[in-house]
Amino acid sequence: MATFIDKIEHSKELIAESAKKYERIAVGCSFGKDSMVTVHLARTVAPEISVFSIMTIYKPQKTLEYLVEINKKFDLNTLVYVVAKETPEILEQVNVVLLPYEDFEKESDYVRKELNKEMYSVCPDECCGLLKVVPTQEAVKNLDAWIAGLRKTEGFTRENFQEIEIIGNITKINPILEWTELDVWRYLAINQIPANPLYAEGYRSLGCAPCSKVTDEDESERAGRWQGTAKHGGECGIHTKRLK
Ligand code: SF4
Repeated sequence: MATFIDKIEHSKELIAESAKKYERIAVGCSFGKDSMVTVHLARTVAPEISVFSIMTIYKPQKTLEYLVEINKKFDLNTLVYVVAKETPEILEQVNVVLLPYEDFEKESDYVRKELNKEMYSVCPDECCGLLKVVPTQEAVKNLDAWIAGLRKTEGFTRENFQEIEIIGNITKINPILEWTELDVWRYLAINQIPANPLYAEGYRSLGCAPCSKVTDEDESERAGRWQGTAKHGGECGIHTKRLK
């Protein structure tokens, strides 16, 4: 069984090889704990590698504030993609690509009118599609490969991912796929990387505010995601849908 040190070395090698192989490569960062490990590993072996992030109008204010703080602290120069009417005020301190809001507005207005509900509660797949998958497609459209921080032990939907995946015309590298939740916290502590403050409130997996709940120790990390919907513990789509 690989030790923690073996895992770090393997992840670094995988990222270094990928950065050498693909001219147009970037790291996707959600500003959760796993993303922070991945970005830190990537910047250690490939200091110039680009970082992008997909934010939504439903992300917790604390995540947006953390993004701004960490972006500055580690000089990440993150390019943030968001579907919104206007750039959220806090994100005016970072580089933002504001994407059209009309499609989401039309769909969510329709759901509100017909069902008196928000899209995330009745059709989260469509909500994630418009707010997360479409912006990710935009973020990777000029890339040959991207790097993500997903891990097998996060939940049942992540058990069968591969370290290197080719879906459509883009390669995705998952360098910390075999890391455990404990490995992630050890790495953050050893490297003195501040964590998103929401973890101190008991969250173990962070997404949009309406779709993330605090979970118990005996549940899977992603059990707090999309509770009460058919998507419970599932995937937003950026790791499962074709991006280009
Ligand atoms: S996580 Fe929830 S609020 Fe965020 S895009 Fe998906 S369904 Fe919508």
